[in-house]
Amino acid sequence: MTATTDTTATASPAGAVIKLIDVSKTYRSGSLEVAALRGVSVSIAAGEYVAITGPSGSGKSTLMHIIGCLDVPTTGSYRLAGQDVSQMSEAELAEVRNRRIGFVFQQFNLLPSMSAWRNVELPLAYAGVPRAHRRDAAMEALERVGLGDRVEHRPGELSGGQQQRVAVARALVGDPALILADEPTGNLDTASTRDALRLFGELHDAGRTVVLITHEADVAAATKRTIRIRDGAVYDDTATRPPPSRPVATMDSIVARHVSGAG
Ligand code: ADP
Repeated sequence: MTATTDTTATASPAGAVIKLIDVSKTYRSGSLEVAALRGVSVSIAAGEYVAITGPSGSGKSTLMHIIGCLDVPTTGSYRLAGQDVSQMSEAELAEVRNRRIGFVFQQFNLLPSMSAWRNVELPLAYAGVPRAHRRDAAMEALERVGLGDRVEHRPGELSGGQQQRVAVARALVGDPALILADEPTGNLDTASTRDALRLFGELHDAGRTVVLITHEADVAAATKRTIRIRDGAVYDDTATRPPPSRPVATMDSIVARHVSGAG
């Protein structure tokens, strides 16, 4: 797993889960054109843990929609797990969204009237997996995110952090090639953010490909590689830099300064 400033050469084509080549996206309304993405080339290999970050309006959501097969580029190409997305039919795209990508959203997007495990089994139900298998898989995914004791709770009976863990379990349940999370900590407090990031870190450690879209620097700092976009273009793509370490004043250093008369 390498991170490099050459965004097209990060992964061998065989190992690339995501390969965007010179992707542009232009929105048109009437005579107005907005270039949301301008020539983005990014390759993400299987098992990488990546943050895509940038200020508001930089093109993050547009990029997320393209990576998630929710929208298509205006120009350029996108291959997901080796398949050219532009050649896929609507039915194939739906299949890819349902089976190859596990989505996690800022708003959790859980169905309020359904228990946690019912929410988690939904992607499998859409995929036609038999009921008995669905329940077992949902239970296992909820165990995996530490909610084995909350399977019958409805979203309204869970904290925000727990709801996001249910959403992560739902993203995991179909064993997708990619976990794609859009501002997953945007609605979480500090402690729940830490829990969610620990969970994404564990999924990465278990070999999954995890991509977080975030505008929060400390969330990006939890990943292994940060792709920074601005005005619809990648301007930096490197191994994530750890946050600057602040010198910690220990009791010994305070005493030493005091004794030496320096402080
Ligand atoms: P971010 O997620 O980083 O805030 P977006 O991808 O939402 O950025 O937006 C990038 C640019 O594209 C912005 O200038 C935004 O106004 C514009 N944009 C996004 N979606 C649409 C749309 N559906 N129609 C027209 N312009 C859009």
